[in-house]
Amino acid sequence: MPSGFESIFDAFDSLLGGPFQRGGRDARDGAHLGLRLGITLEDSYHGVKKRIALKRHEGCAACKGQGTKSKSDVRRCSTCHGHGEVVQSSGFFQVVTACPACGGKGTILAHPCPDCRGDGRVRVQREIEVSIPAGVADGMQLRLTGEGDHGAPGGRPGDVIVEVEVAAHDLFARHGLDLLVGVPLGVATLALGGEVEVPTFEGIRELTIPPATSPGTALRLAGLGFPNLRARGVRGDLVCVARIEVPRPLSPAYEREVRSLAEIEARHPTPRRKEYLAALSAFAAEAGRKPVS
Ligand SMILES: [Zn+2]
Ligand SMILES: [Zn+2]
Repeated sequence: MPSGFESIFDAFDSLLGGPFQRGGRDARDGAHLGLRLGITLEDSYHGVKKRIALKRHEGCAACKGQGTKSKSDVRRCSTCHGHGEVVQSSGFFQVVTACPACGGKGTILAHPCPDCRGDGRVRVQREIEVSIPAGVADGMQLRLTGEGDHGAPGGRPGDVIVEVEVAAHDLFARHGLDLLVGVPLGVATLALGGEVEVPTFEGIRELTIPPATSPGTALRLAGLGFPNLRARGVRGDLVCVARIEVPRPLSPAYEREVRSLAEIEARHPTPRRKEYLAALSAFAAEAGRKPVS
């Protein structure tokens, strides 16, 4: 990969100022090119190098970008006398338009280069390497400075703006810097606690489920999330969300055990359930709302 790959921070900063703004561009400068690049969530976690094919304008080798083999071939346009524009009269109006004979350039090539038909540039297929930094998120843009269309002689090349598209993952979702995974657990594991295996992009890890874990509890494995692109050493976590899964259908044995559990639950409601039942009866009493039963 040639020089000129700015850090992602520069890329963001320059894009924040408005895309495609780079002070003092002129007509000879090459155009910026935009493209999308799809990567996996795991690629975005580790970072990845990708080769991408693109078509861009480059200076014509046959005429060295001049559009013709010899300088003496460049003639002043006789239609516009080198001004590049012509005045046309139509009735009372005078309209200034780009000279149709020279296309506004003011010069004519008697023998244009056959390779580029006098344009000085040809369209070529190139492969460039893109370094996607670890931590990049869906929709972020990277700027590859100078990898866009080459300019006319004296002009600067444009940039390539790569928009990263991160594909959805079967197991994980991203939230900020955190990586989220839902872990289905049985009633007994939630109540008694235990060790379960969880996937991470660094391999399989053991997760300790503490006793008396309610569904929806987020259990963190520190540092197994995405790195912060703007703050070195700062990473998100792997957030394992405890989910409950009740067997369906219930086996007779399971049902028997759970029925004895149900008796205990009825005799000893949990603190939040108690609060809820109190609030429910207050709500029902208010304005004469009747309980359903
Ligand atoms: Zn002309
Ligand atoms: Zn040429």
